[in-house]
Amino acid sequence: MDQLLHEIQRRRTFAIISHPDAGKTTITEKLLLYGGAIHEAGSVTAREGSSSTRSDWMSMEQQRGISISSSALTFEYQGHHVNLLDTPGHQDFSEDTYRTLTAADSALMVLDAARGVQAQTEKLFAVCRNRGIPILTFVNKMDRPAQDPFELLEQVEKTLAIRAVPLTWPIGDGPDFKGVYDLQAKQVLVFERVARGKTRAPVNVTSVGDPALAELIGPELHAKLQEDVDLIEGALPEFDQDEFLRGELTPVFFGSAITNFGVEHFLSKFVHLAPSPGPLETTSGALPPDTEFTGFIFKLQANMSKHHRDRTAFMRVASGKFERGMEVTHTRTGRKMRLSRAHTLFAQDRESVEEAFPGDIVGLVNPGVFRIGDVVSFSPKVQLASFPRFTPETFANVTMRDVTKRKAFHKGLEQLAEEGVVQVFYPTDGARDPLLGAVGPLQFEVFQHRLREEYNVDVELNVTSYQLVRWLAGDTSEVARFARNVEDDEGRPVMLFRSKYDLEYTQRNHPGIEFLPLPKNL
Ligand code: GDP
Repeated sequence: MDQLLHEIQRRRTFAIISHPDAGKTTITEKLLLYGGAIHEAGSVTAREGSSSTRSDWMSMEQQRGISISSSALTFEYQGHHVNLLDTPGHQDFSEDTYRTLTAADSALMVLDAARGVQAQTEKLFAVCRNRGIPILTFVNKMDRPAQDPFELLEQVEKTLAIRAVPLTWPIGDGPDFKGVYDLQAKQVLVFERVARGKTRAPVNVTSVGDPALAELIGPELHAKLQEDVDLIEGALPEFDQDEFLRGELTPVFFGSAITNFGVEHFLSKFVHLAPSPGPLETTSGALPPDTEFTGFIFKLQANMSKHHRDRTAFMRVASGKFERGMEVTHTRTGRKMRLSRAHTLFAQDRESVEEAFPGDIVGLVNPGVFRIGDVVSFSPKVQLASFPRFTPETFANVTMRDVTKRKAFHKGLEQLAEEGVVQVFYPTDGARDPLLGAVGPLQFEVFQHRLREEYNVDVELNVTSYQLVRWLAGDTSEVARFARNVEDDEGRPVMLFRSKYDLEYTQRNHPGIEFLPLPKNL
């Protein structure tokens, strides 16, 4: 147990949440650089074709030969074992990204210093908030003209309803960006531009009152810094670790990932601030990590690489030590199974995982038994207390362009739906083409693209005017007006509506029917 406790305490499993272009890829790359996984940054950002994170990781592992479990990037830093979860397709707004967040113990919110909180940041933030996980903030791109840092903090507090407490403070911005002041250590980290941010940025440390500092950053910025620091120390609340761990307060850091500035400093603080894996909420209470083995499936993915066109189930180890080949119970079905095909990906080839600890991510070859939210455990009864599900908000008709590909089409439909790329609904009114439901319309594009690339099937998609979906419970024999009757992939009755008004009208006329935003008994 001693080894188990030691491994749990040194683990930090987190995900980055951000709006596209805020700098998630760049920060990831720099974290890996400082984590020693790569020695020179700059190889990751050249993207081919669609800019999915997955291909970024793939090209990175090819070029650098580092081990990537394709769902988490792992590196050691100051005695800590850091797992950075890949929230794939960050350009897309998908359930998959949300679900990945269920496997994180904390999140790093990356903001663009000029843009502040953006739409997607808000949505992803809400998911972290719901789970109550601690959130750290990195305000990126300080080397560009930025918003006033006090205004940025206020924006975070107002739009996200979380207290924002700066742990570092920027000195200038854009071409005048000179560095940051560490408010806790009361030290100044001076920024020096290094050729394309390719190597570790040198850091000089001095105190805020140091007259040499005025010379270094200029008297104007020096006076401004002293004024800001006075204001912060006098007016802003102090950082409180417990409030942070409860998800009520976010520590804020400033920097510029592209020039390497502030990232290592952040990382050195992060490993101390961020929590190690905590208990798992199950139907029979909280399961602590330092007990016998339990893991849960948070993501399924087919066709991970060209060499392995099968399905992978990603499991987060929640408690105990995972050992390859161990016998466990698949608790939804009660079946015993041996976890022998466990792997990470290594330059397109799989590498077996022999052991793993709470917080780690293991890929299991999925012969079709796993569903998202499933548990494998030594104990036959463990079930997750809840797993996030999302109600689709946009719907499209999908039509095959070549009807001879029906078989491949249905296979793709089934597997991509299983992954959560889209939800599928089948009309019950005689129409042949299924309808797809998604939280955001970009999911449809991903679906179309993957169906073509991975299943060789071309489809046409037409977004409909339906906006609401309700699963029906009760006496559903009577067909309601103003609605489209369909069923989901498990044959449950579902209705689609064009407006809230249509839904309310139908509800009023059918008091015997329950209209649920998600299917019952998930
Ligand atoms: P992602 O979409 O969130 O993964 O963002 P990327 O990491 O791909 O960054 C988006 C763009 O912003 C790229 O062109 C980066 O080179 C650029 N970028 C990232 N970080 C910085 C930064 O600190 N300063 C500046 N000026 N540009 C940055």
